[in-house]
Amino acid sequence: MVLEIIKYGHPVLRERGARITAITPEIRQLAADMLETMHASKGVGLAAQQVARAVQMAVHDVRGVKDRPSTMELDGRPADVDSLMPLVLINPEFTPVGEPVSGPEGCLSFPEIFADISRSQTIDVVAQNLAGETLRFRCGGLLARAIQHEHDHLRGILFIDRMSRASKLEHQDELDLLRAETKAALKARAR
Ligand code: ZN
Repeated sequence: MVLEIIKYGHPVLRERGARITAITPEIRQLAADMLETMHASKGVGLAAQQVARAVQMAVHDVRGVKDRPSTMELDGRPADVDSLMPLVLINPEFTPVGEPVSGPEGCLSFPEIFADISRSQTIDVVAQNLAGETLRFRCGGLLARAIQHEHDHLRGILFIDRMSRASKLEHQDELDLLRAETKAALKARAR
């Protein structure tokens, strides 16, 4: 089922996600719904907070993006990124390996707003999958950027928090408008 993606101004986007301690049928269903929602919106990543569920789970799929490559290494050997997509990460953690690089970023909770954000080029990731197994891999490029962006969401951190002061100023009016619209919609719904 395609879920509603909540927008900037919704309080759940600022909540830290609870650690997932058991892969229940509800968690499996949430993962399936998040994948469907991400694909319907043509996103490369989606965190549970963005569907108003503050738990530590994010989904990723970089197959649709050909002009911004991703790399993956499993056990020190290059692996086929596409064969590992879509990727569901539960309780993900990462360690930066490469230097930070600046690159364009957007967010499904901030429609039409894009800015350059600095992220590590390469990261080592540890997470659980839906089978409850521990995944360990190194990745780079777009996938590394997406995983860092979603990892932030799981902690209530948004890409506007990492924008340069100049980018944020440039987008301030759009951000204020989006937040006001979200708050007004929430208020209307509460009536
Ligand atoms: Zn986002």
